[in-house]
Amino acid sequence: MTKPKHLTGDIAAINEFIDRFDTFLLDCDGVIWTGDHVFEGVPETLELLRSRGKKIVFVTNNSTKSRQEYLKKFTSLGIQSDVEEIFGSAYSSAIYISRILKLPRPKNKVFVIGEAGIENELRSENVPFIGGTDPAFRRDMTPEDFKGIADGTLLDPEVGCVLAGLDFHINYLKLSHALQYLRRGAVFLATNVDSTFPMNHNFFPGAGAVSTPLAYATGQQPLALGKPSQAMLDAIEGKFRLDRARTCMVGDRLNTDIKFGIEGRLGGTLAVLTGVNSQADWEAPDAVAVPAFYVDRLSDLRAAAAQ
Ligand code: PLP
Ligand code: CA
Repeated sequence: MTKPKHLTGDIAAINEFIDRFDTFLLDCDGVIWTGDHVFEGVPETLELLRSRGKKIVFVTNNSTKSRQEYLKKFTSLGIQSDVEEIFGSAYSSAIYISRILKLPRPKNKVFVIGEAGIENELRSENVPFIGGTDPAFRRDMTPEDFKGIADGTLLDPEVGCVLAGLDFHINYLKLSHALQYLRRGAVFLATNVDSTFPMNHNFFPGAGAVSTPLAYATGQQPLALGKPSQAMLDAIEGKFRLDRARTCMVGDRLNTDIKFGIEGRLGGTLAVLTGVNSQADWEAPDAVAVPAFYVDRLSDLRAAAAQ
């Protein structure tokens, strides 16, 4: 396996790297920020790339926020952006449902396991849904629920799809509804299937840990609409008319970001060491993906401005 090229400190190599691409797909957490803290020099690095005529698309697996909410976050962190250059797994799922799946009436509703980000993106695509943050689903299950879910009287006959993302209020009631819809033939989607997500220098259960009980109960795997799923890259390509050979995926995680870029046959992949994975991870014999390039931090690309 070829070793990734380390660009940090090598101005000529950085310039050559930047010139190779027209578009940079940038993962967010671990690359641009960690939690609510923007990495030093990142806003300036993005400006440098823009000043060199590069198209930037922010590609995040975090489905808890909509593009509008991300825009607010970018602005609060001092990063210039536009809602049209943000591509999250909630949006990816909403456009997959509305533009590709096109659920036929009368079964065109989505049962959502997830947070407001998913609901807002479904609304923006005029996709009807139930579940999500509705307080009616944020409670313990009663004997009446067991009965009504089993005989179908508590189910919505219009549900034709279950979409599972990270849900901070996941419970048995939601899983029971979702399982029943899936048993009745609903399409099974997941915003993303990350095993964990990083927070406060540790890891918490990710969206994949929310959809897995349903995969186990049904014996079916969901179609995931986040990285590394190629359904997400196809949607990005459709929207931005990318030339894959002149596109680079930048990320901190090998099994989502770097795998996404390699499987999508993008022109390049750039790993940063400010997030989940380290050099030892791609040097391991069982490495899930090996990037073509790496920098210690995204702002190392700013050295190109010195030329
Ligand atoms: N999912 C959730 C819920 C998260 O909070 C995060 C990161 O904060 C992620 C996924 C990964 O996001 P990204 O793809 O931007 O690294
Ligand atoms: Ca990341």
